[in-house]
Amino acid sequence: EIYCDNAATTALDPEVLNAMIPYLTNQYGNPSSSHALGQKAREAVEESRHTVASLLNASPNDIFFTSGATEANNIALSGAIRTYDVSHAVTSRLEHKAVLQTLGQYSQEGELDVSFVKIDSKGNIDFEYLENLLKFNAQSIVSLMHVNNEIGNLIDLKALSALVKYYDGILHSDTTQSIGKYRIDLQELDIDYLVGSSHKFHGPKGVGFIYINKYKKVKPLIYGGAQERGTRGGTENVAGIVGLAKALEVSYRDLEKNHNHISYLKSFFIELLTNGPIKNIRFNGESFSEDKSSYSIVNVAFPHLKHGGSLLDKLAQLEIYVSGGSACSNLTQSGSHVLKNLKVHLDRDNVRFSFSRHNTPQEIRHVVKVLNQIYQEDEGIAKSKLL
Ligand code: PLP
Repeated sequence: EIYCDNAATTALDPEVLNAMIPYLTNQYGNPSSSHALGQKAREAVEESRHTVASLLNASPNDIFFTSGATEANNIALSGAIRTYDVSHAVTSRLEHKAVLQTLGQYSQEGELDVSFVKIDSKGNIDFEYLENLLKFNAQSIVSLMHVNNEIGNLIDLKALSALVKYYDGILHSDTTQSIGKYRIDLQELDIDYLVGSSHKFHGPKGVGFIYINKYKKVKPLIYGGAQERGTRGGTENVAGIVGLAKALEVSYRDLEKNHNHISYLKSFFIELLTNGPIKNIRFNGESFSEDKSSYSIVNVAFPHLKHGGSLLDKLAQLEIYVSGGSACSNLTQSGSHVLKNLKVHLDRDNVRFSFSRHNTPQEIRHVVKVLNQIYQEDEGIAKSKLL
């Protein structure tokens, strides 16, 4: 069994599990209770908030825990739109559905105009086009992701924030795929809303966070108690929050080491694949590039198997776990909106490989060997059919 689907989710780190266990067992207090058991839970939540804030060079007051990045994106966008009466949004067709559907809903209700930035066939954003949009639409909300979850494209957040701020815009970035992998310094970056999801960096599922710049506010999305300072009612997921903070701490503790290890795996994979027997391999987006894409994601456009059948199914049968697009697009059966919008390589078997610190060079070698075997066997079958 080889798991190369780390953009969908990651394995829980044992150190993270250990940190969570007390809060799943004897430390079961409600952080809002005033007795000692409750206060122990409160301390754990606030300590976790400090950890997350210090790793991102933010203030604990700017960090709000949520159920994940989908909710955090919803809070950021809906919150900003409703708080500041924003009437224009700028985004890209390659964003995650949590962003596209949220903006789409406001647009359908007639409350928001949404402009899409121009992108090239590799998914790069046309910054000049973006600047023009901002020039003619003052105080827009701009939502552009740091790392694309399907093709791995990486954007320069610093350049983006400088541009958006020059035109007085509000900036939200879905950083779900980059938190824990790239150092993000919120003192340096002028960004209003940023999100993270613990299960993408070896933490538990169902917990995430939103950073809200101290100069910005949001109306809550979930009304209820005064938890998360009124921004998100509901009893805190204490064990999840502790796990998220520990997972982020572990990820940033070994950031350089992990970065080097995973980038090596990616380039080793590309090298073995492009020098192997499978002909006509292409790459989706900027997957192939070292500086324009994340070091952990590569999206490959393989030629269809002549003998039919899907490459993804064949890999799954051989216990190599990868993905065609995002895990969420599997649910809708409509295929990847990201690849559709790039309009290239749609007539191919597109496979996303996403690596983590748990993968090894031996695994990469094995994955490529299996891919080569599948194509060689397919070629053999196709030839024998011709005879
Ligand atoms: N945004 C991006 C870019 C993602 O990759 C994901 C992952 O599924 C999400 C948002 C949603 O995160 P969550 O599973 O925490 O809701």
